[in-house]
Amino acid sequence: MTVRLYDEDHYLREFDAKVTAVNGNHVELDKTAFYAESGGQSGDTGTLIDENVVYTKYIDERHVHVMENEPSFKVGETVHGVIDWDRRYRIMKLHSASHMMEYFLWKHFGYMKRTGSNVDDKKDRADYLHEERLDPAMLKKVETDTNNFLVEGYPVSITVDSEGIRTWRCGPVEMHCAGTHVKNSDEIGLIQLKRKNPGRGEERVETSLKE
Ligand SMILES: [Zn+2]
Repeated sequence: MTVRLYDEDHYLREFDAKVTAVNGNHVELDKTAFYAESGGQSGDTGTLIDENVVYTKYIDERHVHVMENEPSFKVGETVHGVIDWDRRYRIMKLHSASHMMEYFLWKHFGYMKRTGSNVDDKKDRADYLHEERLDPAMLKKVETDTNNFLVEGYPVSITVDSEGIRTWRCGPVEMHCAGTHVKNSDEIGLIQLKRKNPGRGEERVETSLKE
């Protein structure tokens, strides 16, 4: 069982860990700061010693670092891990922003069931059950309200209950989430929203960072 160091510290970028398994280019460690794809959040990339980790994901519940090449290190060795922080920090900003966006989306459009979501360093995509096209003027209001909220600077808190369920809170927004997040909404900067139609009866809201 790999200890997830990011559960305790979302800002941890470097760590040392012992190699517990190597299968071809798949590496497992006793502990790691590399987020494994889950809950719609993209897996981390980076390096172990100076060898590239191209993705991190669960395979049969094992926390697998997918290496670009078969690694030179072996089971039992200690390796230094560094995650690609620019990429991960953008993912954290977008993940936190998407929860805040959804709060204002529901405020303006009413509750819509979310059928899927996916966040990487480029954008957050959230799909909702909704028959009509999301009104552009109303969606602009969601964007404005979200941005006003972000710059006001609300702290993010995460609590874990006895069952291990993680609850994310920021101002009036609250939800179950096991992803990695910024500490304060003002770290995010401004976002922009785009509407897409992923299929019949569904509407997609794409959130990206305004840069
Ligand atoms: Zn989340």
